[in-house]
Amino acid sequence: MKAIKITGARQNNLKNISLEIPKNNITVFTGVSGSGKSSLVFETIGAEAQRQINETQNSFVRNRLMHLGVADVDKIEHLNVPVIINQKRLGGNVRSTVGTATDVYASLRLLFSRMGAPFVGYSNVFSFNNPQGMCPNCEGLGYVQKINVDALINKEKSLNEGAIRFPTFQPGGWRWTRYVYSGYFDNDKKLKNYTKQEWELLLYSEEHKPKHTGREWGKTVKYEGVIPGSKKDF
Ligand SMILES: [Zn+2]
Repeated sequence: MKAIKITGARQNNLKNISLEIPKNNITVFTGVSGSGKSSLVFETIGAEAQRQINETQNSFVRNRLMHLGVADVDKIEHLNVPVIINQKRLGGNVRSTVGTATDVYASLRLLFSRMGAPFVGYSNVFSFNNPQGMCPNCEGLGYVQKINVDALINKEKSLNEGAIRFPTFQPGGWRWTRYVYSGYFDNDKKLKNYTKQEWELLLYSEEHKPKHTGREWGKTVKYEGVIPGSKKDF
């Protein structure tokens, strides 16, 4: 028989569901919380398979086997002997991956270090925490954060018109003074007309002391681009 055939499953909130599950395949049940995945897989199919096995045992053994209750279902045909693995919420946190939450990560590191070519020998080198092992693009974080310059800056405006959208960079804001009194910019020039040099200075300049600042510039204040240190290639 090629499929497990379930007819009329009504366990918990299941609405009289009938379906076939192909054998010798991996079948995944997905759905939002409360949609009945566990009711179908564990409390219907798992329970019925377990019950059928239990019936083949004498009462001494039967009393010591797992009892999953009797499923509310019309019939299930062509069931296999089940291996029921507990449904378990994974511990871990937002940075957990399948690898770290299941610990398969340590085994994979070991495997690659022993069997990989070229031979390295140290499993640590395959760690995403190791500078040599980490992905150079995301530095082992698994994601890359980028600043959307077009969302941050309105090129149709000048500094005086509030071209930098971030609140403290708006006209009158204290960060705004860092740009308009720096001596670097024509404060009425629309940013779309900036030269490449002005653009670099505005966005990416590292901290330094400008030479021709306005009188309003504090003596100890340094200049810094809006998003210093961020990569320029996006
Ligand atoms: Zn990466």
